[in-house]
Amino acid sequence: MAGRDFAAGETGRGPGVPSRGLANDPRAGQWDGRVLSKRMIADYKPFVVTDGEGIRCSLYVSGCPFHCEGCFNASIWDFRAGHEYTPALEEKIIADLAQPWVQGITFLGGEPLLNTPVLVPLARRIRREFGHSKDIWSWTGYTWEELMRPGETPDKRELLELIDVLVDGRYLKDEHDSLLQFRGSRNQRILDVPASLAAGKPVVWAKLHDQERDVPEIYLKDRAAGESRQAS
Ligand code: SF4
Repeated sequence: MAGRDFAAGETGRGPGVPSRGLANDPRAGQWDGRVLSKRMIADYKPFVVTDGEGIRCSLYVSGCPFHCEGCFNASIWDFRAGHEYTPALEEKIIADLAQPWVQGITFLGGEPLLNTPVLVPLARRIRREFGHSKDIWSWTGYTWEELMRPGETPDKRELLELIDVLVDGRYLKDEHDSLLQFRGSRNQRILDVPASLAAGKPVVWAKLHDQERDVPEIYLKDRAAGESRQAS
């Protein structure tokens, strides 16, 4: 879906944007989660291993105005999609997180940075009850540089300060790469948020480990080796 570059001519928005009309590029502060969020949740999945390091609980919030071409979650671009975030769901999330084998929670969407009315209080509660014994990951369509622009709404920074790891940037179909760890396109980065805030620039997560070769290739090599052993 073609988007609009609302911030045409603006510089310093980091890699991957503007994105040749494939994704919307908002001006600083143009999209305000305190207004846009309808406190709706598309899905909650406890005990998953695909949304970050370790066993995690994943909360999918509804609503994303980036409208990237090829987005896997286009059905939840609408801020009213899904069901309301309830106290009962929050109690379940806290109880699931308390399991000793759970490493943390992941916020996905939809756009977490535009669902701050749900996620800031939840992240605060997690810090209150678990300290830093549980980590918090979030995906976002914004780049780090966009989030740091003067004029961005303060709730985004509030949420960032509660997050440990941020996967940033739009999904760009042309830069799709299936070997990337936890991300879909090469422009996206996995960032260490406290280190980035301290350094005043994006700092890549120290445990970044992209795959060097496709899984099918490895499988084929193993199979070929097995076949030659059988033949000999
Ligand atoms: S930012 Fe993410 S959720 Fe939003 S449209 Fe792009 S890929 Fe989809």
